[in-house]
Amino acid sequence: MPQDSLMNTYNRLSVAFEHGEGSWLFDTDGNKYLDALSGIAVCGLGHSHPAVTHAICDQASKLIHTSNLYTIPRQQELAKRLTQVSGMESVFFCNSGAEANEAAIKLARRYGHQVLNIENPSIIVMDNAFHGRTMATLSATGNRGAQAGFEPLVSGFVRAPFDDVEAVRNIAENNPNIVAVMVEPIQGESGIRIPADDYLNQLRDICNERNLLLILDEVQSGNGRSGKYFAYQHNNILPDVVTTAKGLGNGMPIGACLAQGKAAGILVPGSHGSTYGGNPLACAAALAVVDTIIEEKLCDRAASLSERILAGFRQELKDAPYISDIRGKGLLLAIELNEAGAELAVLAKVKGILLNVTGGGKVIRMLPPLTMTDSEADLLVNTVSRLIKVYAADEPVTQ
Ligand SMILES: *Cc1c(COP(=O)(O)O)cnc(C)c1O
Repeated sequence: MPQDSLMNTYNRLSVAFEHGEGSWLFDTDGNKYLDALSGIAVCGLGHSHPAVTHAICDQASKLIHTSNLYTIPRQQELAKRLTQVSGMESVFFCNSGAEANEAAIKLARRYGHQVLNIENPSIIVMDNAFHGRTMATLSATGNRGAQAGFEPLVSGFVRAPFDDVEAVRNIAENNPNIVAVMVEPIQGESGIRIPADDYLNQLRDICNERNLLLILDEVQSGNGRSGKYFAYQHNNILPDVVTTAKGLGNGMPIGACLAQGKAAGILVPGSHGSTYGGNPLACAAALAVVDTIIEEKLCDRAASLSERILAGFRQELKDAPYISDIRGKGLLLAIELNEAGAELAVLAKVKGILLNVTGGGKVIRMLPPLTMTDSEADLLVNTVSRLIKVYAADEPVTQ
């Protein structure tokens, strides 16, 4: 039985936060923590960013919700802004990453039926992918642990190894039901896995040759985190569909599914919807987020902070035997360990740093705010490096 009235869906650390400011969180006992996780890539602008706070308060005092049965100017404005920064054409708004991916999956199936005349559309998805917890997105997810106990899964997904172009080409050539390829440009939950530089370009080519939709899940990598507004912008390609959520609202729940070209007009009235999706309050917050990312040049900031942090870790940990890899793209950062070290998240908290350990307990994942200062970044590098060395030497960690 859970200890409180919550369903026991999370193993939670025993800390509760009372307020946040920039890169810092303050707990109910007045201790402060450097937040190198940003609520899992959500608070890219840090906590209590004045532009977001002001947008939310101002909008909440005027109008929170109407309905998608009416025109929502804030939603139209946000769609316009997102299409401008992404090169995409049309946007569907929802409330989470999983919902954005559900929209993309439904769009791909409808595209298969209507455009390709395929009765049982299938989507190629990757090993170790994470696309969400709803039934369809869970089925697209490449993690048996997350799926176990929830069978029957949704059919219509065919799996390929991540970062393996030939495997995708092979499936696309041999399976006549394939309508789309769905992939994270950088795998997040499975441990910040970064594919070959031209991976997305090659997938784009395969999709072009066979009229398939290229669907990119940028729920985690979008909104400046990779060092570009969207990670595919490193490759100078456009996907047919891109989904995002996490960093879009800086904590206000909002997700988006963007489409262009042959995918832009597939969903029509009656084919998909959401009661809350794109409501005035969520859109006001997201508009402030997108504008701030652009005005404060936070994509470039993410790229330069990334270089500073990775160089710092490589320097500090160059002789540490316990480390098998240090990698990152923008502020998606990982230190991979030789063996499982899940308790490092607890020990880091003792040291006043919030991070998370993923990828089977072997990958220390850091997703700091794009607004982090150089001195905060240095503090992160120094504290985490010292912690890893102490931990690897089997010495006790003290406050
Ligand atoms: C977090 C995440 C999701 C799921 O988002 P929710 O908002 O939790 O539903 C989907 N895809 C990726 C790549 C994610 O990182």
